[in-house]
Amino acid sequence: MKEDSKRVVIIGGGVAGSLVAKSLQFHAHVTLVDPKEYFEITWASLRSMVEPSFAERSVINHRDYLINGDIITSNAANVTETEVVTANGRRIVYDYLVIATGHEDRVPISRSGRLDKFKEDNQKIKSAHSILIIGGGPTGVELAGEIAVDFPDKKITLVHKGSRLLEFIGAKAGDKSLKWLKSKNVVVKLEQSVDLNASTDGQKIYQTSNGETIEADCHFLCIGKPLSSAWLNETVLKNDLDVQGRIKVDEKLRVNGRSNIFAIGDITDIPQLCWGKCPKSLNSETKELKQGFLAQQQANVVVNNLKVIIEGRRECKMETYKPHSALAIVSLGRKEAVAQFPFLTVIGRIPGLIKSRDLFVGKTRKQMGLNPDIEIILT
Ligand SMILES: Cc1cc2nc3c(=O)[nH]c(=O)nc-3n(C[C@H](O)[C@H](O)[C@H](O)COP(=O)(O)OP(=O)(O)OC[C@H]3O[C@@H](n4cnc5c(N)ncnc54)[C@H](O)[C@@H]3O)c2cc1C
Repeated sequence: MKEDSKRVVIIGGGVAGSLVAKSLQFHAHVTLVDPKEYFEITWASLRSMVEPSFAERSVINHRDYLINGDIITSNAANVTETEVVTANGRRIVYDYLVIATGHEDRVPISRSGRLDKFKEDNQKIKSAHSILIIGGGPTGVELAGEIAVDFPDKKITLVHKGSRLLEFIGAKAGDKSLKWLKSKNVVVKLEQSVDLNASTDGQKIYQTSNGETIEADCHFLCIGKPLSSAWLNETVLKNDLDVQGRIKVDEKLRVNGRSNIFAIGDITDIPQLCWGKCPKSLNSETKELKQGFLAQQQANVVVNNLKVIIEGRRECKMETYKPHSALAIVSLGRKEAVAQFPFLTVIGRIPGLIKSRDLFVGKTRKQMGLNPDIEIILT
């Protein structure tokens, strides 16, 4: 790297940030700030709970793909016009900053700790006769599907406070997955919540808001996690957050009004389908779904745009990010899935063929410059 290399600091080593770090490592002096030592392919985490060895490929040390850059294992705590301050007291000067802090997640710091956590969850599933899943969004539905397919003898109850499953996409997808789960003997209770303060694992009796009792040997909490943007509240970017705490960006994915700070992934407030004036059929407040494959596309746009700036090319060469319609595939065990495409919602083996066997892990590893398959050494 030349001494006058531009300094790019990336905050957040998740789906979006790690891809930017990997892609820019030979174009700039890259520093990645992340509280964990690894990048995790999040959509493989539920399979890893029923098959812990699956995580050997989906939990990847940052150093495996970022061979030419600095890694700081800490949370970012503050950002100024020129530097990032980390929770462990480091000050990192930047020329360009990329914020990709997604959602808050309390996970182990080290890769081996994360792999152990999957083994622990797997043991919890194996030793239980009955399992309660709290939350009927994509995480709860996918976890119920994984357990129902791999452990058909377990008694699974899924409790969801909404009136239908998979509320982040259309009603058809929710109805189809409800039918599928019922066909696998999963008991689904809608419009109810569970008071976890009144129960702990091993207690066996859980109380719902409707006064029902559910017997279960253990539970898994699968509810949405908060955005990781509260740390920006007292920074120079505090006025760039919307009321939900999402960062406002322009169509080049720069934080509004700034030429050297970008934001990507779940943390952004990108509208669904259109910037500015929307067609009447769409509410201008509707935001793009928070999806990993979109975070990856946003990362690629920012990589291109940073290369344009760093190489001193004209601004018109910068790429515009084109928001997407609501497209999603939710896996249902190892072979099936429910998929919402723009004009069609389907369930079964065909959408399952797209996602459910490998969960895009090989594809994602390849994108990170890694071998899609690795030899798993069993100890
Ligand atoms: C169980 C599950 C299943 C999913 N399935 C799918 C799927 O099938 N398809 C799909 O497209 N999407 C899926 N998603 C959504 C997808 O994972 C997210 O959209 C994607 O991870 C967003 O990427 P991101 O980089 O914005 O955030 P993340 O991947 O959440 O990464 C954020 C990173 O920022 C770090 N961080 C947080 N705060 C700080 C801070 N203060 N300082 C420094 N670093 C910080 C975190 O440690 C993390 O590494 C799934 C999500 C989950 C949880």
